[in-house]
Amino acid sequence: MNTLLEIENLHVAFKDGSETVEALKGVDFSVSRGERVAIIGRSGSGKSTLLRVLSGLVSPDEGHVRVGDHLMGPDDRPRRSLYSKVGLVFQDYGLVPQLSATQNVMCGCLHRGHGLSALGKFSKTDEVRARRLLTQLGLSNRLDHRVKKLSGGEQQRVAIARLLFQEPDLMLLDEPVSSLDVHWARTAVDLMSLANEGQSTLVMVLHDLTMARQFADRVIYMHDGRIIFDGDPDEACCRLEEQGKPLPCQPPSADGSVEMPLFPIVSASQNATDCPEGHACATGPATEPRATEPREEEEPRLPEPDIGGVGGLWGKGSFYATVLLAALALYIWAAMDVEFSLLDVFSNTDNAVDFAQRMFPPDFDVTSTVASSLLETVQMALIGTTLAAFLSLPIAVMAARNISAKPIQAGARVVLNALRTIPSIIWGLFFVAIVGLGPTAGILALTFYAAGYLGKFYYEGIESIDPGPLHSLRTCGAGPIQRFRWGVFPQVLPLMLGYTLYMFEYNVRAASILGIVGAGGIGFYLYSYINNFQYDRAATALLLLLVVVTIIDAASSKLRAKLMD
Ligand code: ADP
Ligand code: MG
Repeated sequence: MNTLLEIENLHVAFKDGSETVEALKGVDFSVSRGERVAIIGRSGSGKSTLLRVLSGLVSPDEGHVRVGDHLMGPDDRPRRSLYSKVGLVFQDYGLVPQLSATQNVMCGCLHRGHGLSALGKFSKTDEVRARRLLTQLGLSNRLDHRVKKLSGGEQQRVAIARLLFQEPDLMLLDEPVSSLDVHWARTAVDLMSLANEGQSTLVMVLHDLTMARQFADRVIYMHDGRIIFDGDPDEACCRLEEQGKPLPCQPPSADGSVEMPLFPIVSASQNATDCPEGHACATGPATEPRATEPREEEEPRLPEPDIGGVGGLWGKGSFYATVLLAALALYIWAAMDVEFSLLDVFSNTDNAVDFAQRMFPPDFDVTSTVASSLLETVQMALIGTTLAAFLSLPIAVMAARNISAKPIQAGARVVLNALRTIPSIIWGLFFVAIVGLGPTAGILALTFYAAGYLGKFYYEGIESIDPGPLHSLRTCGAGPIQRFRWGVFPQVLPLMLGYTLYMFEYNVRAASILGIVGAGGIGFYLYSYINNFQYDRAATALLLLLVVVTIIDAASSKLRAKLMD
């Protein structure tokens, strides 16, 4: 049997604040083509990190991994062609929740072709194949369902179907059957084993030895970033039986939890002699004999709760009192500085009453004039918002921290800030000067003004997406543009449409004022009615505006709720 995977002296450490967590502390093993290897061990022992290194997502700090002719060491970046060799099913599946089951499975082919292929849609042949795989895994009635609507077990099968679609030589699976019943777990492992003409190599993180015995022909037991056993699953069980710890050889308890006992350290020579007859003893790579049993995992201790005591409460109280006093002083200073006084309002109530009285009854003779200018206002808002959406999208993509390079981010943010800083009415004046009076100037003003806001909403939306699906698309071989198309865009689209609708609502209000500078819309009439003391006509304009804005608000919030579903 030829070797497919070789791992030598693998070390990986993560920086966690000021602390360094050593996740892998010198891991060595190799796997032959066609082998099915189970990795088990307690939570935090480094299993997922190991799979991430093998799939090229995490670079080793020391040592190297070789998969076929791909070498990954501390200074190597994985080539895209690695993903025709290696595929990974993530512990949390890594599916794109907004895509359908079939679309998610088809993402498994993104390593084929160049980095710009399959940006529109996938081929018919791919679709037929993806649907066949999902049907084999019992999902024939879920093919076009969005993944976020599927159960955990169904999602897990979609992730396995995507791996099968990818057809890698080395299949890495992080707890691949944890949510499946025995039937589907067996079917999934059989399908994976039969892929690649029965030559698939499987490295699976499994829950316990019972599963390892069922699904694998070799088990690697990890503890604290090291391998402490590597051999036959039955041998592993016999070791535990000798220790009087038969637990992991029995089915897991109802809640699925099994206590993982620490494994006795054995050397290759001990393996050969210590095991009772009837058990196939390990002949695999020897594990380092260790002087002492590995340390039991320490229970993490919660810090003592700080209830403060009387002194603490007093300390906090005086802090809040100081903040309150400072805030009060700030308000008084601001009001005095601008000579703000509510008395001015109360001493001039006659003017207010006169103003209100002149508005009633509204003069409905101007209804048709006002209605047509209101329609123009809505049309301006519609076109302006749409143009703003197109203008701001590329700037938002460049401004988002999670997908863009630092210098580009900074430049894009400066542009968006500048667009936002200028009020819509100033944009209106600017465009009236360029294109003359009328709605065109208003539309351009709304476009630039709204682009500043939409760009900010969009990039914040992009930054808030779940990065998990992007990592898993990387392990399918997707290039940056493909990751954006299939990973970022579906996640952020409902959010962006929601923001755009909100901006449209807002722009109808903003457009109503642009008429003041001659940039079209109802503002022109509002301004001239008030200037000519025709308050009853202004009242008609305001009433109609209120009706239109209320209808648009109601319709758009319904639509936004539907988009987020
Ligand atoms: P397992 O899959 O066996 O439960 P992991 O490989 O996920 O374990 O983690 C091994 C150790 O590395 C844990 O102590 C975990 O907290 C730490 N670790 C894993 N990923 C990170 C990370 N990105 N940053 C900091 N620490 C990490
Ligand atoms: Mg894990």
